[in-house]
Amino acid sequence: MKKVGIIRCQQTEDICPGSTDFKVAKAGKLAFEETGPVEIVGFLSCGGCPGKRAIARAKLMVDRGAEAIVFASCISRGNPIGFPCPHYANMRDAIIKKVGTEIQIIEYTH
Ligand code: SF4
Repeated sequence: MKKVGIIRCQQTEDICPGSTDFKVAKAGKLAFEETGPVEIVGFLSCGGCPGKRAIARAKLMVDRGAEAIVFASCISRGNPIGFPCPHYANMRDAIIKKVGTEIQIIEYTH
């Protein structure tokens, strides 16, 4: 079973506990259809705008065994308020640079 670390938007923590992320990861559905069911080794927020703290947080999860970094749909799709993260591309690209291309990047959860 693949190990993943999930990064979520800090701005939506008050309105979403991430339940659907855990549900689809466990079931291997939606963003996890390709990997099958995954083990979540970390579930951290981006650390707040503009998301710079997410780089170290992603690295921490990789150091703890994550084989993929997953961006929750609150970041890339703007769930549940229709407001995607304006810093997403920069955050994602900086994380790829930090963790290396051997770590899989999954750009949404559901
Ligand atoms: S940087 Fe993006 S993901 Fe992080 S709190 Fe701000 S809007 Fe949310």
